[in-house]
Parts: sequence; structure tokens; C-alpha cells
Amino acid sequence: MLNIIKNTALYKLSRPMAGGALIGRIRHYGSSSLATEQCKEKDDPNAEHHAVVSTFDLFSIGVGPSSSHTVGPMRAAKFFINDLKEHQLLDKVYSLRVDMFGSLALTGKGHGTDNAILMGIEGETPDCIETSTIAPRIQDIHTNKSIHLDGTHRITFDPAKHLIFNYFKTLPQHPNGMRLCAFDKNTTMIATNEYFSIGGGFVVKEETQMDHGENVFYKQEDEDPGAVVVAERKDQDVAVVSLPFRNASELVAVCKREKMTIAQVVYENELKWSTPAEIREKLLLIWNTMDQSIRNGVMATTEDRLPGGLNIRRRAPGLYQKLLKGLYGPVPNKPMYHGSQIDLSASGSLDHPPNGKHAHLSLSVLPKRQRKKFLLPALDYLSVYAIAVNEENAAGNRIVTAPTNGAAGTIPSVLKYYLEFVSEDPENDVMEFLLTTAAIGMLYKRGASISAAEMGCQGEVGVACSMAAGGFAAVLGGTVEQVENAAEIGMEHNLGLTCDPVNGLVQVPCIERNALAAVKAVAAAQLALNEEGDHRVSLDQVIETMRQTGLDMMSKYKETSQGGLAVNVPLC
Ligand code: SF4
Repeated sequence: MLNIIKNTALYKLSRPMAGGALIGRIRHYGSSSLATEQCKEKDDPNAEHHAVVSTFDLFSIGVGPSSSHTVGPMRAAKFFINDLKEHQLLDKVYSLRVDMFGSLALTGKGHGTDNAILMGIEGETPDCIETSTIAPRIQDIHTNKSIHLDGTHRITFDPAKHLIFNYFKTLPQHPNGMRLCAFDKNTTMIATNEYFSIGGGFVVKEETQMDHGENVFYKQEDEDPGAVVVAERKDQDVAVVSLPFRNASELVAVCKREKMTIAQVVYENELKWSTPAEIREKLLLIWNTMDQSIRNGVMATTEDRLPGGLNIRRRAPGLYQKLLKGLYGPVPNKPMYHGSQIDLSASGSLDHPPNGKHAHLSLSVLPKRQRKKFLLPALDYLSVYAIAVNEENAAGNRIVTAPTNGAAGTIPSVLKYYLEFVSEDPENDVMEFLLTTAAIGMLYKRGASISAAEMGCQGEVGVACSMAAGGFAAVLGGTVEQVENAAEIGMEHNLGLTCDPVNGLVQVPCIERNALAAVKAVAAAQLALNEEGDHRVSLDQVIETMRQTGLDMMSKYKETSQGGLAVNVPLC
């Protein structure tokens, strides 16, 4: 609901947001140790909400470089414009003011938050905007100090004055806050609202946050975002889906009871929103967009530099060319094991030092001999696919949030690798993989958060790694327990991962980090598949641990670029 200003002295939301389910839930467990499931459920104000959101809200087609700082803010601005239209206020608007707070301000420049908001004000959405038009339109707004409100008429808008980075202020409800205000020709404020970009492109505001907690699927800009719709969605949360689950143990129990895989459970729930044909089409569109982003990344020119000032050269094209040239030789298709034991009894090379100066060592000396060819093609393919997507994301191009933009490369990389080298039924494998990963993403979204501003990078790349591990285990034929175990391993070894992007750009460490996460996901799945699914640490426990770790993490490591690599890597 838009806040229409009758009393011009008002400039804030008329109702306070105290007690919001999202905020309340996080505060409640802030200092506790791992609670028992029973205690958590008893105290959890969100306990009646299941974890299920639509797969197509977790995986949505967007633009780079950030889901929380680019996709979410563009949506929020579009929501505001839609609300103005709904209240017949659009024609009365003569000027706008936009305030960004907290992490949105601190890393907004590097993440393109300001440009995303401008495009949202012009009526664009992340899934439809033609990315090649963004730069000239932004330039036009700055040059002419005016903006096309909803793409219809121009109003005065000077980004230097009307788009404000509040570096030292954070709204109390969430680190990623923004406020939009509209003024009439007498400079009287006629409407205002605050929005919070909570990660993965999800946006909440007063009603959604208070009534619905974080479990809100709220990505359709054309939907009426009013309280009635929110109430309906709350009802849907509680009652509508066929096979609700709140956590991993419930998901496993549902699978066992229904004799279904995780993908089948998600598919069954998805039928409440879409027909089978629509589900298939949307899943394949998601994959095709992922595949296209890999293609665009590896087919870019090797001389391309990523925007933002770090002067980073794209690596995916060069790496891919090396792979295509067969630098590493054929992939071995027979099991083989070469022992690495060293015979202690032999006199070895100490008798034959490489030169007189280093007679006590047989290690290689400078200049080093030619590099050995190293047979690990899986690592190279996984890396190049992930890097390709994240370089596309860093360039502000089309990608799929999976579950966020910063982590957009991990899941496509693992799925691409599977399709290229293992799959015998690509269409079904794509659907099973994506539906399984979606279920795991839902568990993190409900049990913790997928926002780096709340959780650090463990909530983005860590979650993507966990999702990919589960998906990979599933398409390889893993049991439900093995899939759960793979997802758990995928996160357990990402716990504590900080978010410290250099210069606020989603480039360093983000691009390489996705490559490493893809490799780790495959390793996690392999470990799980070699066991029977019984393991000491459960996925629910690791999600709760991630949440507590995120709460304890200092804000300088949570997407503010005030710590870590961001302060130790010089910009020139
Ligand atoms: S460090 Fe991780 S969470 Fe932070 S911007 Fe990069 S990918 Fe996203």
C-alpha cells in the first residue's frame, strides 16, 4: 500500500514496522546456541509458515550485477511507480527523491543500484529490460537532468541531487533499505514508501514484512502489492501447496511418506501455480537463459575489460579456448589409479642435484621447466562455465538469479557440466536438477536468509554451492538422504564466508568464488554419494549454524565493502 501524504508534515511511513516477522525472528535467536527443533518451533513467530515458494521466484531472469542491489531496487522502484499509477498520482508527480540506506548506499555504486533504480522509475523490469539500452539511457538522464516517468513523460530529475546515498544511515528494519518520495508542482510530498531488498531479488515493504515474514514470493511487478494480495498469499502459504515442508527433515519425511524424490515434491507443489506444460516451459527457459549466459561469457572477446574501474580482463574466453584446443588431452574413461608412494630406500635424486648451487635440494630451480599438463578437465570446465556467467553478471548482462546474482555462476556451471559429460536425458535432468536445487534454496530462505547483507557470502555463494551439490547428487541417482547430505556438505565448508567485494563491485572475489563453489559442489555430491546418507550433521543444523554465524558476523563483512579484501586490495 502506498502512503499517500495528506498531512505535509509527515515524511515517514504512517505505521511503524515494529515486530516484523523477519526482523523479530532474526533477533530472537541472535545470541542463542543451537536450539532444539521443538524450542525453535515453539518460539518461532513464523512457525506456521512453510518454506515453499515458487521455483520461479528463486530462479528468475534478471540483469547483473546484483540481485539484492540491482534486481531488487529496480523492482522496488517499479512497485512505487505502479502504486502511483494505481492511485492516479502519476500525472501529478513533478519530482522524485530516492534515498538509499545501509549496504545499498555503501556498495550501491559498484553494484549499479543507482542505475537500476533509474530504470525502475522509467518502468523497466529486470526480466524484460534490453540490457544494451541501459548505458545510453543512464547517460541521457544525467545529461538532461530529467527522467521518463514510467516511460511516459519526462520530469525533472538530477541524479546528483535527487538520488541520495546515505552512507552513514541504515533503516532499522533491514540493511538494504530504500525510500522513495514523490512531490507535486508545489514541491509538496504526495506519496512515499520504504522498500527492503532482502536478497535474491525479493523485495518486501511494510505489509509484506509484517504479515508475511521473509517467506514471500513477491516478484511480479504487475501484481497488486496491496495488503489484500499479501493476505491471500499468506493463506496460500499455510494451506494451498500440496506438500508443504518447513525444514529439511520435514522435506525428507514428505518424500518418504509420498514415495517421491525431492524434485517430484517441488513439482507437485508447483502445480498449484502452473500447468505441467508451463512448468516444463519455464524450467527449460531458465536453463536456456543460463546456458546462453555461459555461451555469451565464453564467446566474449579476450580483450574485454569488466566495467567499474578494477580493469579486470575477462578470463572465460581465453580459458575456454584452451579447453577447446585440448590443452589437457583426452578425458580418461577407464578407472585408473597411479600410486604416489615414494620409495624411501632408493637413493633418489639427491645424488643428482640439478646444479651445483642447490646441491642439497632436488626441487626445481628458476627458470622453471615447462609447465606439466595436468589432467583435471572437470575442474577446468566447471571453472570456466562459472566464470563465464559471473563475468556476464559483472558486465551487467542477462543472467538467472541462482539464487542471487553474485552466486549466479555456480548452479549453471554444475548443471552444464552434468549435461555435457554425464547426462543421457538432458530435458528431464534439467528439470530434476533445478527442482531439487530450488527445494534446497527454499530451506535456506526460510531458515536463514540468502542476503549477503544479513549473512555474508555464505548466504549467497555458500547457498548456491549447497543447492548445486544437492542437485548434482539427485541427477546422479542419489537417495533423498544422500541429496540432503550433499547439500549439507556444500554449506558446512562455506560457513563463515564473508562478503567483501573490492570497490563494491561483484568481481573480486565473486567471480573466482563461484568457480570454486562449483568444484566444491561436485566434490560434496561425490562424498555424499559414496556414503549411505547417514551422517552426523544435518542440513537443518547447518542452516541454523549459518544463520547464527551471519548474525554474529560484523557488518563490515556483510556487503558493505568496509572490511576484508575490500580494504586490503588497492584499487590502482
Ligand atoms: S563476496 Fe559473495 S556475497 Fe559478496 S558480492 Fe561477492 S558473491 Fe556476492
